[in-house]
Amino acid sequence: MKKGEISLYNPISQNIKILKKIKPDALYTFPSALALIAKSVIKERIYEIQPKLIFTTGETVNQHHRKLIQKAFNVDINDIYGSTEFGRLAFECNQHEGLHILPDCILEFLKDGETVNFEEEGEIVITGLYNYVMPLIRYKIGDMGVPINERCNCGRNFPLIEKVIGRVDDYLVLPNGTTISPRNINVLENVPGILQYQTIQEKLDRFVVKVVKGAGFGEESINQIKEIIKAGCLGENVTVDVKIVDKIPKEGTGKLRTVISKVKKPQIVR
Ligand SMILES: [Zn+2]
Repeated sequence: MKKGEISLYNPISQNIKILKKIKPDALYTFPSALALIAKSVIKERIYEIQPKLIFTTGETVNQHHRKLIQKAFNVDINDIYGSTEFGRLAFECNQHEGLHILPDCILEFLKDGETVNFEEEGEIVITGLYNYVMPLIRYKIGDMGVPINERCNCGRNFPLIEKVIGRVDDYLVLPNGTTISPRNINVLENVPGILQYQTIQEKLDRFVVKVVKGAGFGEESINQIKEIIKAGCLGENVTVDVKIVDKIPKEGTGKLRTVISKVKKPQIVR
């Protein structure tokens, strides 16, 4: 098997050049990074990159990125949930009915120390069963997820997670003390002309949305962003500023965080 690598810090055009040369059968990458490549592939009508499999990992995949990637490469993506400490933890099969938890680890979903009900959000706590050198027992990975009591049509009997929502740290506290999930405001993908974005809660009542804009971004897009954030904050009195930037800095690992809260909050999950 031929293998190659692209760097997320390369310009998109350079990565496309590399992919055209390698002609990979499989791609394994962060969804936000592949979505940017997919956008160029569609725009420039590039047909030479035709992977048979695409695996995404490292970030929660949103529907917009999923559709964009499928359109560009004409193949479904399979999302994988993993971590540095445990490696792969759960994966999506071709039925896309959730993420199958792999049997070499135990995942618990907790709120206030108790297991949550199915379809409720809980903090993910993991026990690995095969690392004898550095056993991690009931390890708080820092992510939130939603377990479901369903069986997937593919026939695999591994338990399912509906989705992994994101970091516990990214939960937001509103001026009235209510805690909300980052999902409440993390729905800007469909605003016209947004290439990338990052929403930062600077203070309890102040949000700044950094936007890398593409074609079709205008005054209406800015209004939509403000409306979406305010609605997500459950009508609380918050101000939203939109800043146009050239690029949004990635984490050291190359991941893009779409919601960041700088507000100190009481520990919401114990
Ligand atoms: Zn399945």
